[in-house]
Amino acid sequence: LGGSSSINGMLYIRGQSNDYDYWRQLGNVGWSWEDVLPYFKKSEDNQQGEDKFHGVGGPLAVEKMRASFKVLDLFMEAAEEFGYPKTSDFNTGNNEGMGYFPLNVKNGYRCSTAVGYLNPIKKRKNLKILTNAHIKNIEFENRKAVSINFWKNNQLLNVKTNKEIILSAGTVGSPHILQVSGVGPGDLLKKNNINVVKDHPSVGKNLHDHLMLRPVYKVKNLDTLNDIYHSYYRKIITGINFFLFKKGPLTVGASYLCGFIKSDNHLETPNLQFHVSPASTDFLGKTTLHNFPAFTPTITNLRPTSRGSIEIKSQDTRIAPKIQMNYLSTDEDKEMAGKSIKITRKIVMNSIAFKKYEPEELRPGIHITDNETL
Ligand SMILES: Cc1cc2nc3c(=O)[nH]c(=O)nc-3n(C[C@H](O)[C@H](O)[C@H](O)COP(=O)(O)OP(=O)(O)OC[C@H]3O[C@@H](n4cnc5c(N)ncnc54)[C@H](O)[C@@H]3O)c2cc1C
Repeated sequence: LGGSSSINGMLYIRGQSNDYDYWRQLGNVGWSWEDVLPYFKKSEDNQQGEDKFHGVGGPLAVEKMRASFKVLDLFMEAAEEFGYPKTSDFNTGNNEGMGYFPLNVKNGYRCSTAVGYLNPIKKRKNLKILTNAHIKNIEFENRKAVSINFWKNNQLLNVKTNKEIILSAGTVGSPHILQVSGVGPGDLLKKNNINVVKDHPSVGKNLHDHLMLRPVYKVKNLDTLNDIYHSYYRKIITGINFFLFKKGPLTVGASYLCGFIKSDNHLETPNLQFHVSPASTDFLGKTTLHNFPAFTPTITNLRPTSRGSIEIKSQDTRIAPKIQMNYLSTDEDKEMAGKSIKITRKIVMNSIAFKKYEPEELRPGIHITDNETL
């Protein structure tokens, strides 16, 4: 239960007010920043208390980061040298600035949507939760969604609705289920022998994601998570710090330090985001942390123009669809990727803050300077 919120990075960052206002301008009534802000506040139980932008008493706990590293504080100082300011709150509609991430955490533990929304109401008589159930398809009668077929314990079951069906199976799951149910690009559905309920070419299209580029910098005389990871003694201390005080790296999610910056001064709102981690590895999730002090100031283009797609390969939703990301497939995205790495490089390699720690760019490598290779 909880979908991706049960495995995600727990970083609590809202979108920028301009982005919601743009959605509204596209014709989506009820999606402007002014429209969504009351719901953000209502959903929040912010440890910092209530104000114009934050709420208390809601289902999603939001806490300040319970860990810090000098290397991250230095990154903020270094960024400031080049005109990228600090901020104490990313969630006011103007995300610009550098600071530690707020987290969806309660007392040092993950607060997923399952923890925040479902746990308190699980016993309601008018709510039935089925786990280990896999949706086969939605059934339509005269283009009206009327029931769901699903497998549970290899048994095919059906549930009818007398009101409405809310499909919220995520970025991949929702278009996947729609396509097998007959709502999607007509040609694709026919190729998979699916009866077309509505030929809708955009279902499964316009897929975009924030590709994260991971430059790595080796430093001297600075403590990083790499050092903790390679010391049995320090790992034990970190464990004790968590169990006794609910503090330190074991309370943190995917990243520590956040930064929203503009790649160019003429932009109205930030288009790049930093996720800075006081740790480094050669291949994320595949290799262990380096055995020397280093950190990873990940940089992301928030407004990529590359678009991918999701297409069924079969009528059976148990067979994963084809997911085509098409990362960096436009010239703009390639250009911005190179530019963003150069901004990161400038902050680390040319700042006074980092100079005495003798930073060295391990990845991609200081000798690479043209955007295409970067
Ligand atoms: C690794 C990772 C890290 C992330 N880190 C962050 C972060 O730090 N901060 C942040 O704000 N966001 C983060 N995100 C994104 C965030 O978690 C998602 O945007 C959010 O959870 C999406 O919610 P959702 O309800 O749209 O979909 P999901 O959370 O994906 O939920 C969809 C649910 O539908 C189910 N489903 C799909 N198909 C079927 C089917 N056929 N039958 C039955 N069930 C089905 C899935 O199992 C899942 O439980 C991260 C995501 C990932 C994957």
